[in-house]
Amino acid sequence: MVEQIEIGDPAIAVAIKRSARARRYSLRISNKDGSISLTVPKYAVMSEALNFAREHEGWMRKHLAKQLKPLSLQIGGSVLFDGEYRRIEPGTGRIVRFDGEVLQVPGSAEMVPTKLKAYFKAMARERMVSASIHYADLLGKPIGRITMRDTRSRWGSCTSDGNLMYSWRLIMAPKAVQAYVAAHEACHLIEMNHSDAYWALVANVFPDYKTHRSWLKKNGSLLHRYMF
Ligand SMILES: [Zn+2]
Repeated sequence: MVEQIEIGDPAIAVAIKRSARARRYSLRISNKDGSISLTVPKYAVMSEALNFAREHEGWMRKHLAKQLKPLSLQIGGSVLFDGEYRRIEPGTGRIVRFDGEVLQVPGSAEMVPTKLKAYFKAMARERMVSASIHYADLLGKPIGRITMRDTRSRWGSCTSDGNLMYSWRLIMAPKAVQAYVAAHEACHLIEMNHSDAYWALVANVFPDYKTHRSWLKKNGSLLHRYMF
């Protein structure tokens, strides 16, 4: 009998395999389909298996993201927008619209990723510009240019002359996470490092930043799986 547990949100299914020979817990991700199994000693306690899997959630997400197929964007499918999965439906006119529930994308099927990308980039710009101005004002610092890019290695950056850069993929993250990234970069206008003084500044303008920073650590790779 295969027992199964689920970890995190979006959930990762982990099949538990009991083995008489196993002396310790070992996690395995299948190269074929990305399925995950956790081999445990025969009489292992389920709550311990669950704890073990939870401790390795970050590791699993990282490997799944690398391994799993990229996510394609198509009518009838869905995509993360402001941290929620939104259905992609056919639209009318020329531009993408969001009616509060679904994303309406006009035009031919093969243009869906391109149109969504343009919409996401524009929305991300709007969001990140206003959030950056908000936090820079709080800190009493002027900002320079703000550019939106598609960067794998970082969600944002800040130069010594106050120019800010953000990944437009942040529009897929929850709004609070977007705000955290803006606050993070705005604080670099004062401290160009990640010293204790820097994090104290972040905590000052964005008290619950840790929750949102860990959301990005956990789910950031998911945002990169979408193929635009
Ligand atoms: Zn930083």
